[in-house]
Formats: sequence, structure tokens, C-alpha cells
Amino acid sequence: MSSATTILPPAMLGMLGGGQLGRFFVIAAHEMGYKVAVLDPDRNSPAGKIADVHLCAAYDDKVALQSLAEQCAAITTEFENVPASTLEFLAQHRTVRPAAASVAIAQNRVAEKNFFRDSGLPVAPYAVIQQEADIPAEDSGLYPAILKVARFGYDGKGQARIKTPEEAHAAFEKFGAEVCVLERMLKLDYEVSVVLARDADGNVETFPVAENSHLNGILDVSIAPARGDASIRDQARQLAIEVAKKLNYTGVLGVEFFVSEGRLLVNEMAPRPHNSGHYTIDACVTNQFEQQVRVLAGLPLGDARQHSPAVMVNLLGDIWGDGEPAWDQAYAESGLKMHLYGKHEARPGRKMGHFTVIGEKMEQTLQGALKVRHALG
Ligand code: ADP
Ligand code: MG
Repeated sequence: MSSATTILPPAMLGMLGGGQLGRFFVIAAHEMGYKVAVLDPDRNSPAGKIADVHLCAAYDDKVALQSLAEQCAAITTEFENVPASTLEFLAQHRTVRPAAASVAIAQNRVAEKNFFRDSGLPVAPYAVIQQEADIPAEDSGLYPAILKVARFGYDGKGQARIKTPEEAHAAFEKFGAEVCVLERMLKLDYEVSVVLARDADGNVETFPVAENSHLNGILDVSIAPARGDASIRDQARQLAIEVAKKLNYTGVLGVEFFVSEGRLLVNEMAPRPHNSGHYTIDACVTNQFEQQVRVLAGLPLGDARQHSPAVMVNLLGDIWGDGEPAWDQAYAESGLKMHLYGKHEARPGRKMGHFTVIGEKMEQTLQGALKVRHALG
């Protein structure tokens, strides 16, 4: 450990973004003895509400950024869409992890896909659509396909499933002729993800692989460790490490994969803790947010081993349809770990919380989780 750069409690750490990922970072940092300043323009942001300092301002507000740099020993982010100029500005004054260059790649699907391809990593066949004329012909082998906007897409937003070039033209128009990626629609066996932490000296700890299912483009259930072929799990961990190395990444990184006809393909990455890594809060020696604090502070990485099988289920605003969900029925499950994010308003599709069920054997753990999910609607 290079002790010259180690930041120890009770130093103040900075967080760009006040959502649930930021909130879990604040919780981990507090437990470890640090203070946290959060920058988020939303007065009611889940992380801002529990932070020591909440700078309620825009992400490019120079006065707020100056104040963050003055108050914090080091700064990180909970979302990839923070302006690159913000990270570059902060990096002139303080340690910023991950680096602006890594975030810039992760926030743009074109840069991200090209980076994977140029690094020799397996990806789904795709074309970059800068303008109408770039839309591939029927015989390109890319149809049926998914059109995805290059910037600001998440949870299946900014995506259209299309069968023909005509539909691609219509969808491209609908997205306002923004730069897009057109990707071949794959037959998915299942999806997996890997969360890892890489420190400034290049040491890496990977968390066990999660198996993910989505509903309407939003993560629904994560099963950890992933079931199925052990060699898929090993490959996923190796590929995730390769991604981090090629980026010379410092921080926590989430990498999503498709398993299609027995082959592993890299889908996308997130330069931060990942929803599919929430199971680590309750099932691992060190969780992904403590790992984020450790990397940022220059501490050695924590032990990423999992001690119990875990199944995580996201709770979206939809289940608040007619008042509060049936919490009493959920708490009937003894292995339940509930996490609600303190969001003010429940809207359909909005991530309000998640729960993880911990058990001894995967089969019963999964049954328990599905029972709770059913009880909550
Ligand atoms: P985001 O998570 O940013 O919304 P993704 O590219 O991960 O965007 O897409 C969301 C989900 O849509 C994926 O997890 C997967 O279930 C499905 N999906 C995306 N691309 C493809 C594809 N090429 N073939 C099949 N399914 C896909
Ligand atoms: Mg995704």
C-alpha cells in the first residue's frame, strides 16, 4: 500500500450523485468512519438526505464543484452520465476515481462497443448509426435487431426492437436522429454480470458472478452465484478483469454479459457499483460499496468472498399501486434483508428498493425470494 495517498477516517469523501447507489456508499463510508459530501440537484435525493453535507446544485455548477473539491479528500461517482468536464475539473484539485477517461467510454455506447471490439473482446454484431444512411440493409445479417441510443439510455430506455430496415428508420427518427448503435437481437440463454474492484496498483478482487433476469428492460432478479456452466462463470470473471485492465481502471466496475447459444459476449459496463451487485451487501465479506470506499481512500481491497447463496429482487414503484405493499408477509421470510431507498414518490418503473434473501442452499433461497416477491405483488 502506498501510504502517502491513503485517506483515513474521519476524512470527508465526495460523491457525485444522490441516488440509491450513492446512498449505499454513504452508509458504507459512515460505518467505516468517514464523512461524505454528496452533490445532487434533487433536494430529496436518497443519498443527499443522509450525507454529512448535501450540495444541492447542478453537476456542472462551478461554485458547488469548488466547494466539493475544498471539503473532500477524494471524489467518486455513482452514475456514468456526470459530465466529463466535471470529473476533469475535480481531478485538477483532488483524487478522482474512476478516471474521467473511463467514465467517458462507459457513458457512450459507441465508444464502449468500439472499445470492447478493439480490445478483442467478444461482442454482439453491431453497426454505428450516425445518420440515416448508416442504417444497414436487409441482407446485413443484423436483423432482427435492437436500436439503442448512444447516450443517456438506461433500464431499457432509449431502445427499440426492430425487424426491418424500415422499422430502424422509423425508430431512428423517433429518437430524434441521435447517434445510435444497431445491435443484432441475440437468442439469450441467460445473462450474467461481474462486479469487481481494481485499486491504483492494479490489484483486482472480483465478486462472484450474478445471474440476471430482466423485466421490461429493467433488472428484476439476480441469483448469486450464477447457476449453470462453471466455465461460463470463470470466463466472465476473466473477461471482466480484462476490461478493467485495458481501461487501466481504478474503482468499482460492473460488467454485463449475454450468454447466447453457449457463448459469452460482453454487453455493457458501468463505472460504479451495479444493481446486480446488491446481493454483496448481505452475502459477501466485503460489499461493493465498502470496496468503492476502499479504492477511493487508497486502502487495500476487501475480501470479496460470498458466504451464503443469495437472491436479490428489485422493488419498483408499480407495487405501491394501492398503498403500501404487504410488508408483513415479506417479513414472514426469516432470511429476508430489506433495503428501501427512502424515495419520496413511488412511480411505475422507478427503483424504490430491493430485497435479498439469504439461505443455506440455492434452491430454497430462490423459493423464499419468489414467495416474498409474489406476496409484494
Ligand atoms: P441498459 O441496461 O442500459 O438499458 P442493455 O443494453 O443492457 O441496456 O439492455 C437491457 C436488456 O435488454 C439486456 O439486459 C437484455 O435483457 C436485453 N438486450 C439488450 N441487447 C440485446 C440483444 N442484442 N439481444 C437480446 N437481448 C438484448
Ligand atoms: Mg444493461
